Amino acid sequence: MTTPPLPAPAAPVSAMVRLGYVRRQLARAYPGLPTELLGYADGGQPVVVVAEGSAGFFDGTQPYPPAPTWREWRGRRVPFFFDAPLGEPLLTERGGQVFVAADVVAAAFYLLSGWQEYFSDERDQHGRFPYAASVQQQYGFAALPVVNYYFDVLKTALEQATGQQYAPRRWGPQRAEFAAFISHDVDNLRSAWKAPAKAALGRGQLLRFGRLLWRHLTQPDAWDNLEAVAAQVAQYGGRSTFFILPEHRRAPNGTPNADYQFTPQFRHRLRRLQEQGCELGLHGSLGTSIDNWALIGELRRLYLPGSGLRFHYLHWEPYRTPTMVEWTEVIYDSTLGFAEHYGFRHSYCLPFYPFDFATGSEASFLEIPLNVMDATLHHPRYLQLAPSEILPALAPIFAEIRRFGGVASVLWHNENFDPTNERNGPREFHALMRHLQDLGAAFRTGREIYSEFVAPPGSSR
Ligand SMILES: [Zn+2]
Repeated sequence: MTTPPLPAPAAPVSAMVRLGYVRRQLARAYPGLPTELLGYADGGQPVVVVAEGSAGFFDGTQPYPPAPTWREWRGRRVPFFFDAPLGEPLLTERGGQVFVAADVVAAAFYLLSGWQEYFSDERDQHGRFPYAASVQQQYGFAALPVVNYYFDVLKTALEQATGQQYAPRRWGPQRAEFAAFISHDVDNLRSAWKAPAKAALGRGQLLRFGRLLWRHLTQPDAWDNLEAVAAQVAQYGGRSTFFILPEHRRAPNGTPNADYQFTPQFRHRLRRLQEQGCELGLHGSLGTSIDNWALIGELRRLYLPGSGLRFHYLHWEPYRTPTMVEWTEVIYDSTLGFAEHYGFRHSYCLPFYPFDFATGSEASFLEIPLNVMDATLHHPRYLQLAPSEILPALAPIFAEIRRFGGVASVLWHNENFDPTNERNGPREFHALMRHLQDLGAAFRTGREIYSEFVAPPGSSR
């Protein structure tokens, strides 16, 4: 993969821009929080004063800040970028003001904006920013939503200053402590027979090969299972969000897109799923994350005005994709997770509006970050967890999300509902769903999460 040319931001990222962006995301995490009382010492007379600690970092184009210091906050060791050099106490009250010693506004902006991805020229063979090049990997905090801890610091400071308490967001009519977003990228509907048939052919078992081929030609494929997938998610009171890939031709480099064609019959079937309450979104084919017209073309083919989006192979080019998605009618994206590791790619467990470096402001679409992808858990190039290791690995992630009223976003491909998959298959999926149910998650489609987040229930909007 060729390295992209390093872009400079089109708009300057001043302290005011960073503060404004962080305030807006913070206000959405804690409804009613008076974030306007928060600022730097030189900006009016803030009640909560954050120490400016970024020392010109955002005037440059370095992808990585100086190493963080580690502080204990709410029982966790949390990395603080742009911290005070002398290890002063994090919060100090003086003359009616609360002082925050670490520049958590700069640190939150750094992580939420994806600054490292924008200014790094590291890309993997699929053109993606690699987990191996991230600060999350370098300092080992992929499983910790660090920005939520920064926001908790700011919320605590505002509570001290105002004497009022502010609660995290709640989800659904039952006011659940967190939401779970269960989605399925539909890459394959017709290829379950291929691996066993190839193996039979390789072993010279021609009779078995013939039987598999005959079954393939006369019966539905085991991966042609969207209705069964929807029924399995419905057992938990959830409704599936399917991301549909309307391109079956391979990418120019040979990487496959869909193994099925987007026919009128298939469209009819999808409509039936929609009528049952399932949601459909676009699974943008390879190349659509960097090609505006290709993306618009696929949205038109699918004809889902105001839909959600996830790019195939989780492809995302930070200095092109956000601006492009803004030009479409897409209301939310759910691409941003590391393919190689579960957890928090932007160190945040709530939906947020991505920062657009081209305009120097927040993008118009919502990001619902991806936390867990089935392929991450067992794949030759990702992790190789044993089935018994999956839930113990993921349980701490879900506990963090619940702590901050976030969204647990889980991608389980329909092909991994095949009962012959005993590594990251239906059994592992159901264990995970039972766990989420036991924790009290509100199961929500992407669109429901979008609607609640933009206008919470009970609000007048
Ligand atoms: Zn895909």
